[in-house]
Amino acid sequence: MTARILDGTKIRDEIFAELKGEVANLVHEGIHPGLAAVLVGENPASQLYVKSKIAACEQLGLVSWMHTPPASITTDQLLRLVHDLNNDNRVDGILIQLPLPSHVDTKYVLEAVDPAKDVDGFHPVSLGRLVSGRPGLVACTPAGCMEILRRNKIPIEGANAVVLGRSDIVGKPMALLLMHANSTVTICHSKTRELPEVVRRADILVAAMGKAGYVQAEWIRPGATVIDVGTNKITNTNEADSLLRNFPARLAKFREKGSVLIGDVHPDAINTAGALTPVPGGVGPMTITMLMSNTVKAALLRRGKASATIGNVQTSAGAR
Ligand code: NAP
Repeated sequence: MTARILDGTKIRDEIFAELKGEVANLVHEGIHPGLAAVLVGENPASQLYVKSKIAACEQLGLVSWMHTPPASITTDQLLRLVHDLNNDNRVDGILIQLPLPSHVDTKYVLEAVDPAKDVDGFHPVSLGRLVSGRPGLVACTPAGCMEILRRNKIPIEGANAVVLGRSDIVGKPMALLLMHANSTVTICHSKTRELPEVVRRADILVAAMGKAGYVQAEWIRPGATVIDVGTNKITNTNEADSLLRNFPARLAKFREKGSVLIGDVHPDAINTAGALTPVPGGVGPMTITMLMSNTVKAALLRRGKASATIGNVQTSAGAR
C-alpha cells in the first residue's frame, strides 16, 4: 500500500485564496488587518522566515510593519516596543520572531504581548482559552495540522489520536485541538514506555519530537493517518543513506545538495500509512498560512466580530 499524500502546499493555496477574499471584504468595510513583525538581530534563518511572512501579508492585502532592532537591544527596550505595538490600534497581530538573543528574557517579552494580538498563540492566555474551548488565537502549526486533517476529510471524531511530543507550541495545543474535535488522545513524551505499542493504536498519529526518522514504519497501523511535524536537516551521509535507502531519487538529490529535510517518521512509512504529510511540503507551508489566518481572526475578534470560520478555516477549538 502507498499512502495518500496530504499536500500542505495545495491547502495553503486554497486557504490563501479564501483569505484574500475575506481581507478584500474587510477592507471594503474600512478594516485593514495588519501584522507587526519584530526581528531582533541578524540571524539569517530568522530574516528568511520574517521575509516570507511579510511577503505572505503583501500577497493577501494585509498591512505589515517590520521592526528590526539590533541584537544588543535589552529586555526593557524590547518590552517598550511591544508596549507601543500593543497600543497601536492599526496593529492586529504582533509576531516576535524567535529565537531572541540569549540576554533577552524571551518568556517575559512573549507574555507582554497583548493576548488579543497574540497571532502566534504562544501567550498563556491563548493556551488557557484553548484549554477551555473558547474563541482565541491558536498556535499556528497545530492549527495547520487540523486544517490538513479536515480538508482531507480524515475522520477525527472518535478516532484514537496519538501525539508524540508535549511542547507548548506544538504537542500540547495539538492534543487539545484533537480532543476538542472528539478524538481520544494519548500524549507521548521522552519518558513514555513502549512507544511502538502506543503508536500502533493510533488512527491518527502526529509526530512532533524533532528526531529524524525515529518512528519506524512497522510501528504504524496499516491505513493510519500520519501528520509529520518534524523538520530535521540531515547532513550526515551515513544517516541519509540509511533513512533514504528505498528512495534513490531523494538520495541522489541529497548527494547533490549535501542536505535533506527528514520528518520524525521514517520515510518508509509511506508503505504502511493510509495517508501522510510529506516532509517537506506537508505541515511546513501551513504554519505561515495559519499566521495569516490568525491575523485576520485577531482583526475580527478585536472588533467584537467573533467568527466561527475565516474563509473555510475553522477558528474555534470547540466542536462539541
Ligand atoms: P521540542 O520543544 O523539542 O519538543 C519535543 C518533544 O518531543 C518533547 O515533548 C519531548 O519529550 C518529545 N520527545 C523527545 N524524544 C522523544 C522520544 N524518544 N519519545 C517520545 N517523545 C519524545 O520540539 P517542538 O518545538 O515541539 O518541535 C518538534 C518538531 O517539530 C521539531 O522537529 C521542529 O523542527 C518541528 N516543527 C516544525 C514546524 C513546522 O512548521 N513544520 C513548526 C514547529 C516545529 P519531553 O517533553 O519529555 O522532553
